[in-house]
Amino acid sequence: MAPMHTTALVLFSGGQDSTTCLAHALSHYERVETVAFDYGQRHQVELGARLNVLREIRAQFPQWVLKLGEDHLLDLAVLGKVSETSLTRDTAFKMEASGLPNTFVPGRNLLFLTLAAALAYRRGLQVIVTGVCETDYSGYPDCRDDTMKAMQLALSLGMDQRFLIETPLMWIDKAATWELARDLGEKSGTPQGGQALVDLIVEHTHTCYLGDRAHRHVWGYGCGTCPACELRARGFEKYQAAGPVRLSSA
Ligand code: ZN
Repeated sequence: MAPMHTTALVLFSGGQDSTTCLAHALSHYERVETVAFDYGQRHQVELGARLNVLREIRAQFPQWVLKLGEDHLLDLAVLGKVSETSLTRDTAFKMEASGLPNTFVPGRNLLFLTLAAALAYRRGLQVIVTGVCETDYSGYPDCRDDTMKAMQLALSLGMDQRFLIETPLMWIDKAATWELARDLGEKSGTPQGGQALVDLIVEHTHTCYLGDRAHRHVWGYGCGTCPACELRARGFEKYQAAGPVRLSSA
């Protein structure tokens, strides 16, 4: 079946989720570009991780190299000016009375998607791929499926250009995200590509809220105790407990 869409822009932060989304896009589309936003994150570690991931993908997945186009980094310092959160300021992670973690940056994903769509418009890219997920502990309202559908409609109408917002991780947990990465790597054309992609994600992606790259665990680097590390560790443990590599037939 010929795909209706052939080009994609991936919101790529350098974490496990967005790296899996990048692999998904490289498996499904002919031309793929990446974008990230610099909004004064506490940790430039994340922005460094994304360059390492791109370098390793280019080194290890020759079939994907041909499809992987420009990488864009957009300055969004204004977001840090209007938000007071533990991602943009030097405050500790905690849950707020609202039930949302204080890492919630109001409107962040709405801004990201709007800017991504503006970039996609200019670059002639049809699909916007983002690693948002409803099964995440955080429950960010701007990551929910209804929000994505509303944004897809608003952006398509407002730019008079049909955009598809694709969310490969929306309904799966972190263990299934590792499985998805393994399956995508397996089909990449690289020998033992499944394990290679899992290893790449373990070694080079960054998730820890504290920006810790000093402590190496089986699931990668991080402090091991912040909510992001705990989620990643639990997911990896469950993924490994599921047993030997199950090759998908698709
Ligand atoms: Zn951590």
